[in-house]
Order: sequence, then structure tokens, then C-alpha cells
Amino acid sequence: MRVVVVGAGIVGASVAWHLARAGVAVELLEAGAGPAQGVTARAFGWVGLGAQGPGDDPELFALRLRAVAEHARWRRTLGERYPVSGQGALVWRSSEAETRALIDWHRARGSQVEARGRSGIVALEPGLREVPELAAWFPQDVASEPPALARALLADAPGVVLRSGARVVALEEGAAVLTDGARVAGDAVVLANGAAAVELLPGLDVSLSPAVLIEGRAETGGSGRILCGPEFEARVGPDGRVVLAEWLPPEGEAALPGLARAAEGALSRALGAGVVLQPPRVGERPVTGDGWPMVGPLPGHPGLVLAVAHPGVILSPFLGRLAVAAVLGGTSDPEMEKFRPRCRIII
Ligand SMILES: Cc1cc2nc3c(=O)[nH]c(=O)nc-3n(C[C@H](O)[C@H](O)[C@H](O)COP(=O)(O)OP(=O)(O)OC[C@H]3O[C@@H](n4cnc5c(N)ncnc54)[C@H](O)[C@@H]3O)c2cc1C
Repeated sequence: MRVVVVGAGIVGASVAWHLARAGVAVELLEAGAGPAQGVTARAFGWVGLGAQGPGDDPELFALRLRAVAEHARWRRTLGERYPVSGQGALVWRSSEAETRALIDWHRARGSQVEARGRSGIVALEPGLREVPELAAWFPQDVASEPPALARALLADAPGVVLRSGARVVALEEGAAVLTDGARVAGDAVVLANGAAAVELLPGLDVSLSPAVLIEGRAETGGSGRILCGPEFEARVGPDGRVVLAEWLPPEGEAALPGLARAAEGALSRALGAGVVLQPPRVGERPVTGDGWPMVGPLPGHPGLVLAVAHPGVILSPFLGRLAVAAVLGGTSDPEMEKFRPRCRIII
């Protein structure tokens, strides 16, 4: 069997990896110069549950819980090739009461979470100078490096032929058509090109949701753990490398310099050390209408399977397994299968 996968971001890399391990020959078509050229290159890399909390959909939370367990499987398989920049996430809200509510919400849903007071927080992140009274500590959350993870998956997937600079401009039954008109045919085509999926399938209920990644350096090194408070979501590596994620303000890209200055100030105060940030980079996240992943066969298009979702880094192993199940027919995992009906494709 031979399958064509479109897009070598974290989702396409996962699909290709799962297919290769099932013994399928894969041709992976990537428009860019190599893997992870799209929003994966701008992802913060938080793999875990600590970003969730009161108000979030409990069923989507259960899906993420399942996906995070799949990452643990990847870590066992890839060992040190699974790129981890920091282990664990410290999360705090505007008030102690809100942080307490966050911890209770997670405990009720089976997350691994601990309540940490000031000394417990400093023990984990000694460089922090503005220390909250209370934080939720998620020891199993991970700061990953998404582009490196995509590359590690592909390096571990013999049988996958990556064709860079291969932009797909149309889909036909059992084939993808490239810019020069060449048809790349397979027993199935899996569309995993993220936000660009709507270009090939107009009407797909996927919208582009911009978010901002800012990298830079701090004068002092940190633990690499995720620090998520009301003013920033950041991590500072032992070498002082800073990675920050922000929402794009309603004013759009014109607001980016101000956003970077505010983030620089907030992080400098929190660390009691100088921080210099590079110009922010915006990435378009592929957000589905109902928040559920779109993964499975596309009705009315024989041989075409879709794998599009956000947050794609967290969900990538889940998407990979369900896309492969759609190609090969079912998984033997009832835990995973129970989510399948919600992962429908709306076009
Ligand atoms: C600031 C920021 C922070 C984020 N933080 C997190 C986080 O902490 N955790 C998390 O899970 N998610 C996070 N995300 C979201 C995450 O980045 C995305 O959900 C995920 O990377 C989507 O991966 P993908 O493979 O579907 O898409 P992409 O990475 O966009 O991959 C699609 C690939 O397809 C290629 N392509 C496009 N069109 C074509 C075509 N026609 N033919 C061939 N190839 C094509 C592109 O070049 C690209 O390489 C964040 C996003 C941003 C912007």
C-alpha cells in the first residue's frame, strides 16, 4: 500500500510516522523547503493539560488527556530524540482563589496536579523574583520543540519519502496534483496541511486564528519549565533562551511592537533580570468551528482523509492514529474510538 500525505508539519509528520510503522509506503508532499514550515515553526510547544481550566469543555479536555498519554508513548519510543526543553508547568491566575479553583478543577478530572506555595515554586524556578502565593504544578507537562519533534518523527520513519518544494494545488480521487500539473497517486491521500487545507477544500469549517511567538534572551538562565501567569506564558532555558506565546491583539500586527515591549517588561520584572526579545512572529492556527479535530474520511471524496486540528502539537499523535485508522480501517483502541464520532468533517 502507498499513501500520499500533504503537509509536513507536526500533524503530517505524525500521520506519516504512524503509517510507516504500520508498514505503509508514504510520499510526504511539503510545499516548503523542509519539514515544519507552517505554524508548527511558531508553536510554543506546551504538551500537557495545564493550559486548561474552569470553563473549558470537559469532553475536549478528556480528548487532550488521551492525546497527552500518546505523547508519553512517543517519548518511550523516541527516547532522547523526543525534544524536551523543560519538564513541568507552573500555572497561576490573578488571585489565589482562582488558582485554587484551577487546581480543584484539574483534580476532579484526573490531572496530575499539585498545589505549590511560594517556597515550592522557588524550588522549581529559582530565578523567579515575583513569586505568586500559590501555583498549580503540572509535573507531567512538557515544553517540547515542535519543529524538532516533527523532524525526529520523520527520521524515525523509514519508508517515508519527503518531497520538499512540492506544493499541492488540487486533489483528485486517489491523487494530489502539484503546481507543474504532475499527479502523485496513492491508495489514499491524507490532507494534513493545517490552515492551508481550506485552500484545497473551500467551505471547510476551519478558520485561521492568529497567535504570536516571541523568542529572545534573558540575562539569567532558567529551568526551561513552562511559567504561565496572568501576564505571560513563557519559558527560560538554562542558557537564557526565552520563548513566549501571546494572543494577537485586536488591533492586529500594528500592535506587535507594543506587545513585545509589554512582554519584555513583564518577564524582566518577574525574573529581576534583563530580557531582550526578537521581533514577534505570527502563526495561523487551524481552528475548527466546534473545536473538535477534523480527522477521518471526507464524505463524497473517496480515498481522501483529513487530519486538521488545534492544538495540533498536543493532538498530533491522536490525529496520526485516527487518520491511519481511517486509511487502514479501525483501531483496536476503544478509548480512542470513543472520540471518533465527534471528530467529524464539516464542509
Ligand atoms: C504562538 C503559537 C503558540 C502555539 N502553542 C501551541 C502549544 O503550546 N501547543 C500546541 O499543541 N499547539 C500550539 N500552537 C498551535 C500549533 O502550532 C498548531 O496547532 C500545529 O502546529 C498545527 O500543525 P499542522 O501540522 O496541522 O500545521 P502546519 O504546521 O501549518 O503544517 C502544515 C504544513 O503543510 C505545508 N503546506 C501547506 N499547504 C500545502 C500545500 N498546498 N501543499 C503542500 N504542503 C503544504 C506547510 O508548508 C506546512 O509545513 C501554537 C500556535 C502558535 C501560533
